[in-house]
Amino acid sequence: MQHILDPDTQLLDAWVTQQRLPIFRAAQIRRWIYASQAESFADMTNLPLELRKELASHFQWWTTRTAAHQKAEDGTEKLLLELADGKKIECVLLRDGERRTICISTQVGCAMGCVFCASGLDGVDRNLTSGEIVEQMLRLGRLLPADERLSHIVVMGMGEPLANLVNLMPALAIASQQEGLGISPRRITISTVGLPTAMQRLAEAAVSYNLAVSLHAANDALRNKLVPVNTKSGLTPILTAADAYFEASGRRLTYEYVLLGGVNDRREDALQLAGLLRGRPALLNLIPYNPVAGLPYKTPAAETVEAFSSLLTERGINIQVRRRKGSRIDAACGQLRRTKA
Ligand code: SAH
Repeated sequence: MQHILDPDTQLLDAWVTQQRLPIFRAAQIRRWIYASQAESFADMTNLPLELRKELASHFQWWTTRTAAHQKAEDGTEKLLLELADGKKIECVLLRDGERRTICISTQVGCAMGCVFCASGLDGVDRNLTSGEIVEQMLRLGRLLPADERLSHIVVMGMGEPLANLVNLMPALAIASQQEGLGISPRRITISTVGLPTAMQRLAEAAVSYNLAVSLHAANDALRNKLVPVNTKSGLTPILTAADAYFEASGRRLTYEYVLLGGVNDRREDALQLAGLLRGRPALLNLIPYNPVAGLPYKTPAAETVEAFSSLLTERGINIQVRRRKGSRIDAACGQLRRTKA
């Protein structure tokens, strides 16, 4: 059976044509899938009953099962989804004022090996398909009341998005198309560990998604330890590729920096980071570490975060300190999966 969420936009049109149905049926079906709370083909009440049955016999819709659903007091909700092959992934809905942001995964596990991160502790299992990526968007969207819509997407869940660009791009196309979820590309952010070749490819793809690059260290010696994949390229080509993406897309870049107590949060780290980012039209997102069971890293004291931030601000760097949302439901991606493994 074909997956109805397979982002091949022609798939549904082709089927509708082949069934000798008027083409507006495809648009109706898409509206049910992407702009309603419908859960099954049977719910598509403006379609003839016969057509609903045909759809159900020809297409698979949900291939995942919700294995756990957690809610935090601040409105954050997290789903642990079990895929058809039994593997598990996580995705999160965050509520912030009017914003309804979802954080989605692109791989089962992760191959990048960042030493402080829960997602990569067991390496990578496989890439998610485009349909599995879209399915996370739909499952999270259906947690909202009927009069609310998803407004933002961050690709900051499990996995390295740029290691699965082939499946991510079609899924994000669906997210941003009017006939899909209709979320402007400017409200979609891809977070990468920093893979220069793939970043270059993204620049050439002429897309206008926001790019966030995970730095975590301002020199290669420290970054090699924290983000082992750094040994393959070093920082310079990553910054160059990020600059190229900015040139091509016009979208402001974000650099992410997880603050690990006593590791990368010292005065000299802040000064070096300021030097690296000075003159770059980028936002620096400081993320106090969210502790992972079994790992030795610690969240810095609030005063340390404050002092680190001040040193950067004084040097003209545009910073933002990420507030923690949903930490009590293990909303830092990759953590829920471990507690339920
Ligand atoms: N592979 C992508 C997406 C990872 S998740 C990337 O590397 O950017 C998004 C961000 O969360 C990354 O910057 C990642 O390093 C960071 N992160 C991972 N584990 C974390 C933790 N326990 N606490 C805080 N940030 C974490």
